[in-house]
Amino acid sequence: MAERAALASLVVALLVLGLKGLAYLLTSSLALLSDALESTVNVAAALLALLAIRFAQRPPDATHPFGHTKAEYFSAVLEGVLVVLAALLIAREALPRLLHPTPLGDLGPGLGLALLASGLNGLLAYVLLREGRRLRSPALTADGYHVLSDVLTSLGVLLGVGLAGLTRLWVLDPLLALLVAGHILLLGLRLVRQSVGGLMDEGLSPEEVARIQAVIARELQGKALEVHDLRTRKAGHRAFLEFHLVVPGTMPVAEAHRLCDRLERTLEEAFPGLAVTIHVEPESERKA
Ligand code: ZN
Ligand code: ZN
Repeated sequence: MAERAALASLVVALLVLGLKGLAYLLTSSLALLSDALESTVNVAAALLALLAIRFAQRPPDATHPFGHTKAEYFSAVLEGVLVVLAALLIAREALPRLLHPTPLGDLGPGLGLALLASGLNGLLAYVLLREGRRLRSPALTADGYHVLSDVLTSLGVLLGVGLAGLTRLWVLDPLLALLVAGHILLLGLRLVRQSVGGLMDEGLSPEEVARIQAVIARELQGKALEVHDLRTRKAGHRAFLEFHLVVPGTMPVAEAHRLCDRLERTLEEAFPGLAVTIHVEPESERKA
């Protein structure tokens, strides 16, 4: 499903790129050109996400015993960098125009095409963000935010070009393009931050950890003495959990093992994609 969403975004990105390129040719507006330029980045990003998702799905092997799910973060980081680059490129196009505004020709048909492209993109962003959240895929979510930033750019550019056409105030065009560039710059930076967090073995959120602890407490109820050194880390749509389980030293190994197996199964059912490792200890290792 993740792969199908990435493939769909590639097709839409190509379509949107064509429409925007045409819109630029019709109006010769620099703002529309930089908007089309951002769509070029979209096509590259969609391709990257597709490759990353395909790679992340590979099962664990001898050289990567924990799987390949972190591959998604690389695509998300790269995509964030591309978004930042697009913002800078728009700024580079718009700044000279800010100082020397130039009048544009007939805007109607070009703006119509650009609006159609934005509608398509908006639909795609909605689908990507929904699927990304459902499948817990950073690559898809990154792609969704990117497309959303593209829609915002386009609307800002459309508004600027349209208003400039109506008022003959041609400086509005580069001004609005710059504002939108600043906005997508922030989106890109946030994307990079999130993905770097994943690459740096960021733990699950405090809310998720609290839910995990609640499941453990409910499952143990008087069978174990203590749980400590609980650690989590994320790897794309997978997550890893480990902790120490203190049981009475006289408990037979077979019984402790049964307890762990049941605990692992319950946790992995409650949190799809979670891999659990438990270290069993006697009461002499108690910490509290
Ligand atoms: Zn311990
Ligand atoms: Zn076992």
